[in-house]
Amino acid sequence: MYRNTVDEIAEKDPELAILPVGSLEQHGAHLPIMTDWAIASELGRRVAREMGAFLIPALPISTNREQMGRKGAVWMESVTFYQMMTDIILSLKTQGFRKVGILQCHGGIFIMTPLLRDLNSRYNPELMVALADTCTFNDTLCREGIIQSSTELHAGEVETSQMLAIAPETVHMDRAADFVPAVPRPYLNYGSIFRATPSGVWGEPTLASAKKGELIFRRTAQLAVQALTDAFSYMGAKERFGYSNF
Ligand SMILES: [Zn+2]
Repeated sequence: MYRNTVDEIAEKDPELAILPVGSLEQHGAHLPIMTDWAIASELGRRVAREMGAFLIPALPISTNREQMGRKGAVWMESVTFYQMMTDIILSLKTQGFRKVGILQCHGGIFIMTPLLRDLNSRYNPELMVALADTCTFNDTLCREGIIQSSTELHAGEVETSQMLAIAPETVHMDRAADFVPAVPRPYLNYGSIFRATPSGVWGEPTLASAKKGELIFRRTAQLAVQALTDAFSYMGAKERFGYSNF
């Protein structure tokens, strides 16, 4: 990982790099703006350790136009993010990394899909890029009874529990208030999150606990490892099709 020397990295010679991606943005009155980045950092450590991968420090800034309206959100344009991620991933490819696993710990990165598809269609099989998007794990957490709330989108039971587990000194449970907007998620394309939820919370943070947070980290790390492993084995097993390896 990034705490090791180049000699130590050369000795292990990993072919997989893990790139966690967070965001800097409001998380209601009870969580710090670093929430997504802090979660990405912790999940990255767990996934990289499990997979014997080279861990890159979590990116603190990505795309979050939906959070506009109150000071504290920092973003880049989607095209900038696309270019930045392409540069980072190709720098890894140049050094002999064959696989890059992206851990997406912020929902509002809609350019991730074209980024994945473009890199894999251009460079497969020399380079394989897979995504584990933590938003997609909430249904499983709910079904397995690890969480109660099925309304989580932002600063709810999941993120609040995770922050209680790793940075409890930054969580203000006395200010946590549940709020589930009357509009669906795509309405973030039509107006900032504060139009849908005045507090900026979309979910049920009052259900959170540190114990749940640790269970959520454990299960999401397993689900992320599985999602990345499955995607790499699917891509790795493909034969040349017509003029392309994609
Ligand atoms: Zn978040």
